[in-house]
Amino acid sequence: MKEYAKLSLGLFPTPLHRLPNVSRVLGTNVWIKRDDLTGVGLGGNKVRKLEYLLAEAKAQGYELVMTTGQAQSNHAMLTAACALKVGMEPVLVLKKRGICTRRGNQVLNHLMGVDVRFVDSDSYDDIYAEMDRIAREEKHKPVYKIPCGGSNALGALGYVDCVREIAAQGQHFDHIVCPCGSGGTAAGVFLGAALYLPDAQVTAATVDSDPFDKIVAEIMRGSIELLGGGIPLPEMHFED
Ligand SMILES: *Cc1c(COP(=O)(O)O)cnc(C)c1O
Repeated sequence: MKEYAKLSLGLFPTPLHRLPNVSRVLGTNVWIKRDDLTGVGLGGNKVRKLEYLLAEAKAQGYELVMTTGQAQSNHAMLTAACALKVGMEPVLVLKKRGICTRRGNQVLNHLMGVDVRFVDSDSYDDIYAEMDRIAREEKHKPVYKIPCGGSNALGALGYVDCVREIAAQGQHFDHIVCPCGSGGTAAGVFLGAALYLPDAQVTAATVDSDPFDKIVAEIMRGSIELLGGGIPLPEMHFED
């Protein structure tokens, strides 16, 4: 399989913790992969994707990193934090939805001095058009654009690595449950499990009614191609 350069942004491996109370209530052993402890900002799953995405941005000579999300997007905040860490300038073009005032992740964006722009629209087409407009305005600086959630073929490789990391931690798991918001985590976990924990069943818990079977399959196809092909598309299983 092909390997891709990644930056070292987070603190890996993250710990695996057994949850004694949840395990007692559910009558089965439940463990959590502590990707809230990735060590940048307030932590979170986007750091693994950004290690690949920002490595590509750096290698290709980009200076400005632009991404999007809701006003309180963890992905946007972590993109800004990671970009600043590696000397790149972040611009966040966010949906003017949810809490846009200086609360939550907007406090962190403010503390980091990030250039945040809001777009009053529900459509990511409008947002991506605004990103293109700003990119043209900044034409003296090449702009690397990261999609919502960092969920593309390259970003998802971060969660392929996460499953390899879980396998190396040696604990046996019958079942892995991961969140599914923009699809990159689920794509990486389905693919990573097929490669490194083929006996584990994977369920992705979806946060809304987007057509995740299509979205996640599309990301996985791209990731498989990046890895050099020849891997059958893994089965997907979603729960609301
Ligand atoms: C982004 C995010 C998710 C969902 O991950 P996706 O790769 O976007 O599907 C889950 N939990 C938290 C805390 C997140 O920030």
